[in-house]
Amino acid sequence: MDWAYMLKLGTNMWCDVVPPKWAHYTADELHYKGAADHLHRSYARRGGAVRPPMVRHKMLMAAVAACMMVGAAAKDRIVVVPAHPDDLIPCFGTCLLSNDIFEWHVIEFTHGERGMGAVAFKDGSCKKIRMEEEGSVCKALGAQLHWLDEVDGEAYACRETCERLAALLKELKPRAVFAHWPVDIHGDHAMAGVAVQKALFLAGLSPELYFIEQEYQAKRFVPDQFVDITDVMDRKCELIRMYKCQYRDGGIERRKCVIAKANGMHSMLLSGGSAEGFMSFVQPLQGQGKTIFQELPPPKGRGGLRFQGAKP
Ligand SMILES: [Zn+2]
Repeated sequence: MDWAYMLKLGTNMWCDVVPPKWAHYTADELHYKGAADHLHRSYARRGGAVRPPMVRHKMLMAAVAACMMVGAAAKDRIVVVPAHPDDLIPCFGTCLLSNDIFEWHVIEFTHGERGMGAVAFKDGSCKKIRMEEEGSVCKALGAQLHWLDEVDGEAYACRETCERLAALLKELKPRAVFAHWPVDIHGDHAMAGVAVQKALFLAGLSPELYFIEQEYQAKRFVPDQFVDITDVMDRKCELIRMYKCQYRDGGIERRKCVIAKANGMHSMLLSGGSAEGFMSFVQPLQGQGKTIFQELPPPKGRGGLRFQGAKP
């Protein structure tokens, strides 16, 4: 039960969610008679003295605050594991549409420190810039950022790295993970995609697993899950421009727009909308419950895509 959510809903909803013995109380009565007395009785059973009303009220408020904290922590987590900072872009729209539903985490494999040439790699300036840029982007997305601290171009899915990634995943217990599609001309992308699968195996986790596409670098990528991001496409482009050191002539934004339009066509957004496309590790089966995509706001009547995640 998400108490924080129910508290927000107000009096009318209480009867639907409170324990049956409290169901006849209004919200106020529940506060002052039902829940407070229950806490008071629990306290008394454990040998505590009878508390005066104000103390009971404070105890209740503390319990409510604790419930609200539990409610906040109860959001399902989604983890993205990019090899380099800007590899997060394929998830921007999906994250923007769902950062109030899910708790997003980004585990960056490397700092992308070879992305500005040999001099900036050697003097550490590229690493500094890219870490700052990724910090700003994740803040704007409402995502929490973690670093595996591997080196761009020198990262390997060795035992120690996979075990560190597994430990982090075990701690986060994600409902869904986005990983690189391993058939990719960039060795770091291929390695990171496989390392995620090994880490999940080591952690004993089987979340929903989806692969992300790095436009021209990923090969034979065929998305089967689509998210209509038309409404947040402008915002996605703004975030892409925050990768200033990679923006150069704007090619990165143009390529991402082309992919979004292509995914829009694949998912049959007939009015020329934009979409993000993902490939499922295992195709979701009907009757197995909702996928993360099916919990996103539905597309707004743009034809074809009737609900997120589906291809008609
Ligand atoms: Zn990359």
